[in-house]
Amino acid sequence: MDTGIHLVSSAAPSGRFATSNPATGQPLGEFPIASAEQVAEAVARARQAQLWWSQTPLVRRSAVLRRVAKLLSEEREALARVITAESGKPLQEALLSDVMVAADAAVFCAENAAAVLRAQSVPHANPALRFKRGELSFAPLGVIGIIAPWNYPLSIPAADAFAALATGNAVVLKPSELTPQTALELDRILAAALDAEGFANQPRPFQVVTGLGPTGQALVASDIDKLIFTGSVATGRRVATAAAARLLPVILELGGKDAMIVLDDAALDTATSAAVWGSMMNAGQTCISVERCYVHHTLFPRFLDLCHDKISQLKVGDGSLPDTDVGPLISQAQLQIVDRQVEEARSMGAGVLTGGQPLSGLGPNFYAPTLITGVTTAMSLMREETFGPVLPILPFQTDEEAIQFANASDFGLSASVWGKTAHATALARRIRAGSVLVNDLLSGFAVSAAPHGGLKQSGIGRTHGILGMQELVRPVYLDVDLTPRMKKLWWYPYAGNFAPMSAFAEIVHASGLRRLAAVLRTLPLLRNPRR
Ligand code: NDP
Repeated sequence: MDTGIHLVSSAAPSGRFATSNPATGQPLGEFPIASAEQVAEAVARARQAQLWWSQTPLVRRSAVLRRVAKLLSEEREALARVITAESGKPLQEALLSDVMVAADAAVFCAENAAAVLRAQSVPHANPALRFKRGELSFAPLGVIGIIAPWNYPLSIPAADAFAALATGNAVVLKPSELTPQTALELDRILAAALDAEGFANQPRPFQVVTGLGPTGQALVASDIDKLIFTGSVATGRRVATAAAARLLPVILELGGKDAMIVLDDAALDTATSAAVWGSMMNAGQTCISVERCYVHHTLFPRFLDLCHDKISQLKVGDGSLPDTDVGPLISQAQLQIVDRQVEEARSMGAGVLTGGQPLSGLGPNFYAPTLITGVTTAMSLMREETFGPVLPILPFQTDEEAIQFANASDFGLSASVWGKTAHATALARRIRAGSVLVNDLLSGFAVSAAPHGGLKQSGIGRTHGILGMQELVRPVYLDVDLTPRMKKLWWYPYAGNFAPMSAFAEIVHASGLRRLAAVLRTLPLLRNPRR
C-alpha cells in the first residue's frame, strides 16, 4: 500500500510506526511520527491557508465539498477496501458507515453552512437604545484540531473536518495510529477537490499529522482554536485537562453504554434482529452500539431464543471476504478488555448462552459473538464500555423499571426503545442520552442533519448537523449607533441625575398614568448637558 508521506516539513519526524491488518496480521504500511515541531508547523500552515479559505465565497467552498462527495462516491469501493484492511470491519460496513456517511456529511455541510453563517439583526427593546442597530454575525474560529479514533476512521474525522471547512475554518487532523492510511486518503481526496475547483496553487486548509499519542498531545498543546476529540473516556479526560490548562475549547465525543429497551408490544422478530446487528456490527466497536438490552419479561424467553439463533448464524472472519458478518477486533488489547469483562461476568454468575471466548483459530484478534444473561451492575460488563461483540440481555417487569435501568449508567450517548410508536416514544423522551431512537438504532449517526454527542461520561458538545457547525463559529455582536453626534443621557456628569434616571427606569416597566408621570419626572435630564 502506498503510505503517501504527507508531512511537508523542515522539522524531523520522531521516527516511524507501522500498521497491520487486524484480520491477517499482514503489514500494511509505515508512517512518520510527527514531532511537536511538525505539528506546530502543520498548524501554522493551516492558519496561513485559513486566511484565503475563509475569504473565499461560501458558494465556492461548498463547491469543493460537493466535489469531495462526488469523489468519495466514485472511489467508494477502493476506499472501503482501505478501511477494511486497516480496521478489520466488513466491506459493507466500511462502504455504508464510513464512505457514504462521509459523502452525505460533505453535502449536508455544503448545503447548510449558509444558514449557520447568516447574520441576524438584534432588536433593542429598551427605549433608550432605540437608535441603535444590532447585528449578530458568525465568524470561523480559525484552526480546528481533530483527534480521531480508529473505529470509524473515515466518517468521524471527515464529518468533523467538513463542518469546519464549510464554516471557513482550517483543519489539522491527527488520526488514530491504527488507521492513518484512511486519513491520508481523505487528505488526498480533499486536495483533489481543491485542485479541481481551481485552488491548486493555494496553501491547503486541511493538514494531516500522523503519529502516536504524543502527536495528539502536541496538537492539544499547539496554536489551534478549538479541538474536536473523539476517543475513550480515559484519553478524553487527559485531553480535557491539558486543554483546560490553556483554556482551549474542546468538544469531547467519548464512550457509550447504550441501552436498548424492548417493550411488551415490540415486534419480536425485528427487535431481535436489531439487537443482534446493533451489538455486533463493527464487532461491537461502535460508540453507539447496543451494550445493554432490557426486554419485557413476557417476551424475554422467546427474545433470548431468537437472538441465540440469529447470533449462531453470524459468519465471523476477515472483513474483506464477501460473506463475513463480523470481523476481528482491532487489536489484542481490545480483545483482552472484552475477554476480561466476559470472564468476570461468568465468574460472578452470568450465563453465557453462546460465544464467550476468543476464536484463536481465525487469528489473534477474533472473538466469538456472545449472548449473555444473568448480568448485574456489579459486573464491569454492565458498567464499563465493552466495545466488543457481546449482547447482554436482562428482563424487566415494568416500563418504570426499564427507564431506571437505562438511566442507571455513567454514560449517556444514545439509546433505543422498541414497541408501538406512541408507547415507545413516550418512554424514549424519559431517557437521559444525547439521542434516542424509536424502533431503530445506530442510524442516527448516519443522519447528517442530526446532532451527535452525549452527556455524563459520554462527552461535551455536539458534532454533526447544524449544532455541530455552530460549535465551530464564534458569534460576533456588532452594535451601530445611528445618532453619532448625541451624547448619552447616562454619561457624566451624574450630579442631580439620580431621581430623573430612576423615573426613566420606571418608564420602561410602568403603564398608563404612572408612565406619564414618570416621563415628566425625566425632563430635568434634558436640561443637564452631558460633558
Ligand atoms: P483512544 O482514546 O485510545 O484514542 C483516540 C485518539 O486519541 C487517537 O487518535 C489516539 O492516538 C489519540 N491519543 C492518545 N493519547 C493521546 C493524548 N495523550 N493526547 C491526545 N491524543 C491522544 O480511543 P480509541 O482510538 O481506542 O477509540 C475508541 C474509543 O472512542 C471508544 O471509547 C469509543 O467509545 C470512542 N468513540 C466515541 C465516539 C463518539 O462519537 N462519542 C465515536 C467513536 C468512538 P493513538 O491512536 O495514536 O493512540
